[in-house]
Amino acid sequence: MTEERLSFQAEVSRLLDIVAHSLYSEKEVFLRELISNASDACDRLRYAALTQPELSADDPNLAITLIADAEAKTLTVADNGIGMGRQNLIDDLGTIARSGTAAFVNQLSGDARKDVSLIGQFGVGFYSAFMVATKVEVLTRRAGETQGWRWLSDGQGEFTVSEAEDVARGTRVVIHLREGDGEYLEEHRLRAIVTKYSDHIALPIRLGSGEDAKVLNRASALWTRPKSEITAEQYKEFYHHVGHGFDDPWLTVHWRAEGKLEYTSLLFVPSMKPFDLFDPKRVHRVKLYVRRVFITEEAEGLLPPYLRFLRGVVDSEDLPLNVSREMLQNNPVVSRIKTGLVRRVLGDLAKKSDDAEAAAEYATFWENFGAVMKEGLYEDFENRDTLLKLARFQSTHGDGLVSLEDYVGRMKEGQDAIFLITGDDREVLLKSPQLEGFKARGVEVLLLTDPVDEFWVAAVSSFKDKSFKSVTKGGADLAKIKPSEPQPEPEKPAEGDVATLVALFKTTLGDAVKDVRVSERLTDSAVCLVADDGDMDMHLERLLRQHKQLGAGMAKRVLEINPAHGLIKRLVALAKAPGAASSLADVAWLLLDQARIVEGEQLPDPTGFSRRLAAFLERGVCDLGLAA
Ligand code: ADP
Ligand code: MG
Repeated sequence: MTEERLSFQAEVSRLLDIVAHSLYSEKEVFLRELISNASDACDRLRYAALTQPELSADDPNLAITLIADAEAKTLTVADNGIGMGRQNLIDDLGTIARSGTAAFVNQLSGDARKDVSLIGQFGVGFYSAFMVATKVEVLTRRAGETQGWRWLSDGQGEFTVSEAEDVARGTRVVIHLREGDGEYLEEHRLRAIVTKYSDHIALPIRLGSGEDAKVLNRASALWTRPKSEITAEQYKEFYHHVGHGFDDPWLTVHWRAEGKLEYTSLLFVPSMKPFDLFDPKRVHRVKLYVRRVFITEEAEGLLPPYLRFLRGVVDSEDLPLNVSREMLQNNPVVSRIKTGLVRRVLGDLAKKSDDAEAAAEYATFWENFGAVMKEGLYEDFENRDTLLKLARFQSTHGDGLVSLEDYVGRMKEGQDAIFLITGDDREVLLKSPQLEGFKARGVEVLLLTDPVDEFWVAAVSSFKDKSFKSVTKGGADLAKIKPSEPQPEPEKPAEGDVATLVALFKTTLGDAVKDVRVSERLTDSAVCLVADDGDMDMHLERLLRQHKQLGAGMAKRVLEINPAHGLIKRLVALAKAPGAASSLADVAWLLLDQARIVEGEQLPDPTGFSRRLAAFLERGVCDLGLAA
C-alpha cells in the first residue's frame, strides 16, 4: 500500500502554526466547524442522489455521529455524506480554497494576540481541529466510489494520503486530543457545545452509535421553525454556518411567502464586508433549497448582483426536486421568487433607514454595502426609486451621510438640481475649485467617491423631479440661486475688458481647450477646468482610461477664468496693451496647466510647463526684495 507524503500550501502551514499555538479561549468552535462540514457533505450527497439515487441507497438516513473514545483519547466526527476522493483530500485539506480564509491569512500580522482574535472572528474551518489535536486522521470514501482513503497529519507542514480498506461512505474525522483537552470526551460538554453552536443543523447529531446513541440537537431546519421559537443566538449560529461569516448578522429577514408562490426565506445582512464583495463575478451566496433539500448556492437568478452581500437560504415549495442547476437559469418560478425577495429585503432596509434611532447602524451598513447597492440604481429600474431613498451620500453639509430627501429639503430658493462632484477622495474633492461658488452660496454638493457613482449618475436622471448635475460639468447656474446670506458683489473688471482677455486666451490655447469662459463657480481660484455639457465628466474619463476602456485622446475641456481674482484682474488690464498676445501666451499656458494639475490630469507637455514656470519664478524672485 503506497503512502504519499505531501506538503501543505504555505498559507495553510502559516495558519496551522498560529492555530496550534493559539491560546484562543473558545477552542470548542472546532466542533462547530467539523459538524458544519459534515452537514454540508450530507447536503451535497442528498442533492447528488436526486439524480443518482444509488449513491445513497445503501445507507439513506443521513446523520452526523460523534464518538468519544476515552481510552484512545480520540473524538470522532463522522458523517455518511458525499465523502472525499484522493484529489479532494489533497485539494480541500491541503490548500485554502475559500477566498475568505485566504484573505484572512493575508491579514495575519505575526502578533499572536491580534491573530488569535482574528481566528475568533473568521473561523478557520477544518484546520481548527488542530487547536485541540496532536494528530488528525481522516478516513473517507466518496459516494459512488469503492476505494477509501486515509489522510493523516500532525499539522506540522506535511500530511500523508494513503489507500484505506473497509471505509464506510462519507467521512470520519478522528481527533487525537491533546493532553489537557480531555473535556471534549465528556458527554455534558459535547452536548453543551452542540446546543450552543449546532442546534440549527437539520440532520440528527448523535452521540455514540447503535442502541445507546443520543440525539443532541433538534434536527429540524432552522428556517422551518416559527420565528418566536428561534433565539438571536440560534440565528447567529445559523448565519455562521450558512454564510461562512464570523461576524454577527446586522439584519435578519425571516419570512414565509404564502399564496401563489410558497417559499421560506431566511436572509442575513452581515455586519462586516465579506472579502469577495468586489469580485468581478458578482455572485451571491444564498443557498437554494427545494422542500428542505439543498440544491445549490449558485442559483444565479435568485438574487440580483447588487444584493450579493446577503447570506442565507431560500426554500421553495414550488420548484421540482429534480431541478438541475441549468434548469434554474431563466426559470419563471425563480424569477418570481427573486422579485419577492428583493421587495422584502429592500422593504426591511427601508424600515431601518427610516428609523432615526438606527441612523448610526444604518450608516455603517451603507458604508459596507452602499457601493454595491448603488449598482442597483442602473441595473434594477423597477426598484430605482426605493434604492434612491435607501442611498446615503457624503456631502459638503457635514461629516455624516445624507439622504437625497435630506438634500432636497435643504435646497436653496432657485436651485433646481442636485449638485454633485465625483472623485477618488473626499478630502481632495472638498478642495476642488469648482466647489468654491457653491460653498460661498451655501449650496450643498454631494461628494461621490465610489467608482460606481459615475455609472449611476449617468443612468439616473432625477430624484423627485430634481436632476443630478455635476459641478465640474456645463454651466453652473449659480446666478439663479439665492444665497442664504446676501453676498458682497466682488469687484470685477468691465465685461468688455474681460472679453478681450478671454479672446486672447482662446487664440493662444487654440485646440488645447474647447472654450474659455468667465466662471460663475470660482471665488478664490483664478482658473479651473470643466467638462462641456454633453461631454464626458472629467473624473469618469480618467477612470475609464485607468481601466483601459478609453484610448489616449482626451476630450477637450473648458477653461473657466475668475475675473474677481487679483491675477486675472491684472491680466485683463494688460490684455489691452499692444503686443499683449505674445507676452501673455506663456501665462495662458501656465494657467491651463495649473488647472490640469488641480484636476489631477496629466500634463501633455511637462517640460514646457516647467520651462515657463522657471522663467516666471526667475522674474518673481527678483521681486522678493532680498539683497543678493
Ligand atoms: P469550508 O467548509 O468553508 O469550505 P473547511 O476548511 O471547513 O472550509 O473545509 C474545506 C473543504 O474540505 C470543504 O469545502 C469540503 O470540500 C472538504 N470537507 C471538509 N470536511 C468534509 C466532510 N466531512 N465531507 C466532505 N468534504 C469535506
Ligand atoms: Mg467548513
